[in-house]
Amino acid sequence: MKISPVEQLFTLFNETAVLLQEELNCTYLEALAETGENLFHGSVLQDELSELTVKRLEKQYEQHHLEKFSNEEIRKAYQLVILKGMKESVQPNHQMTPDSVGMLVGYLVERFMKQPSFRLLDPAVGTGNLLTTVLNHLHKKVASVGVEIDDLLIKLAYVNANLQEHSIELFNQDSLEPLFIDPVDAVIGDLPVGFYPNDVRALDYQLKANEGHSYAHHLFIEQSVRHTAPGGYLFLIMPNGLFESKQAGKLHEFFKENVIVQGLLQLPTSMFKNKNAAKSILILQKMGEGVLPPKQALLVDLPSLSNMTEMDKILIQMEKWFQENKG
Ligand code: SAM
Repeated sequence: MKISPVEQLFTLFNETAVLLQEELNCTYLEALAETGENLFHGSVLQDELSELTVKRLEKQYEQHHLEKFSNEEIRKAYQLVILKGMKESVQPNHQMTPDSVGMLVGYLVERFMKQPSFRLLDPAVGTGNLLTTVLNHLHKKVASVGVEIDDLLIKLAYVNANLQEHSIELFNQDSLEPLFIDPVDAVIGDLPVGFYPNDVRALDYQLKANEGHSYAHHLFIEQSVRHTAPGGYLFLIMPNGLFESKQAGKLHEFFKENVIVQGLLQLPTSMFKNKNAAKSILILQKMGEGVLPPKQALLVDLPSLSNMTEMDKILIQMEKWFQENKG
């Protein structure tokens, strides 16, 4: 039986991570980041290992040459081992963005961004799965920046970027603190949903709650818009009820003053555990000189993404929209 490239890489990542986990006495995900670093550097970097373990690791690494694999094969295998590791310790707000959503965002970025090169920001980069899926699907020169508060996730993102040879500028910080980055032309993000605990920091935002904690996803929208150049686009994965919450009034006002809604694509509810957790991809454009609203926003109710016939119909509908609205 032929073993697929993704399976080969999965086995390599998994077996070497298990070896490192046992000897370093760390979590599987920490060990995964370590083995990824070793693979990228082409040597075993941890000096606290026994000679036998070093030999076993070297033997495994020598059998696989990363340059033989495509970026998408590396990303998919890495994604699968991360999923395995995340099962050990489930954290609802740390979920990786699934492939299907990443590919859709990649398609949208490719279609909306006309320029041959641009700057892209993911302010909730997590493991880098969404960002690298998008980068792998773009046929443009992209300078990208990722921000993530969790130090293990950003390490996984850093290893992910290295293994796929994407040069991504990464910042390990709270994205709602000041960001020291130049304006970007596009933002993508599967934003954290829920309350932001830092009320003092929230005071810096127009979208802060009048009372109690503010919604993190609202503040993330404002921060993302701030860092976007006029006329730039934002592709944000958001809860469906965004405009119906108690705090939606301020959001409407903020939108009216700062952005144009270019589109809203509702993801199939079958992708989520329950209807209340369902999400959409919101496409915004920051106002600027010569920026005009579309004749009609791109409003799509997506079918199950594995339903090829229905997806083909939707893609034709979207292409028609691009021709009519984006020339
Ligand atoms: N797209 C990511 C991927 O493919 O791995 C997953 C994004 S996940 C849904 C949301 C991320 O936002 C989590 O990784 C979480 O740690 C991060 N996050 C939450 N609050 C944050 C904050 N204040 N600043 C920066 N990152 C934050």
